[in-house]
Amino acid sequence: MDLAFKLAEEGLQAREVPVGCIMMFQNQVIASSRNTINETKNATRHAEINCIDQVLAWCKENNKDSKEVFRQLEVFVTVEPCIMCCAALRSLSVSHVTYGCNNDRFGGCGTVLNVHNDEVFFEEELKVISGVRKDEAIELLKNFYRGENPNAPFPKVKKEAIS
Ligand SMILES: [Zn+2]
Repeated sequence: MDLAFKLAEEGLQAREVPVGCIMMFQNQVIASSRNTINETKNATRHAEINCIDQVLAWCKENNKDSKEVFRQLEVFVTVEPCIMCCAALRSLSVSHVTYGCNNDRFGGCGTVLNVHNDEVFFEEELKVISGVRKDEAIELLKNFYRGENPNAPFPKVKKEAIS
């Protein structure tokens, strides 16, 4: 989770929504990323999607069956995966997700929509651990939105601090 938070902080510096994600297979980190939406000008480049690409590349390099890797994969992400990411993870048979704070607007692991345990689509139940260092995750998001929103309480202080 430490690494996921580091990536989220890096995202904040880069003016991305600060979400960090890592993916582990057999106790080895095989993917780590943050949101790169502004950087790529692609609204689907969430941390989890970037990590999925890395896992696929890792499987190719290491001659592993990606289906099996995703099945055993452990996902750690600072914010609850959104509906898009949750559906993507579930489509790949990921069944272990640990996250920090809830995603009140787009959460796909139960907060807004419960895409993760739809029996029609998914054979295995998703095991979710939530609330891990959630205050830190919320603080990062608050910092981001404070910086972007001119009506937020301390925009001037923030701007001066940056320049
Ligand atoms: Zn997402």
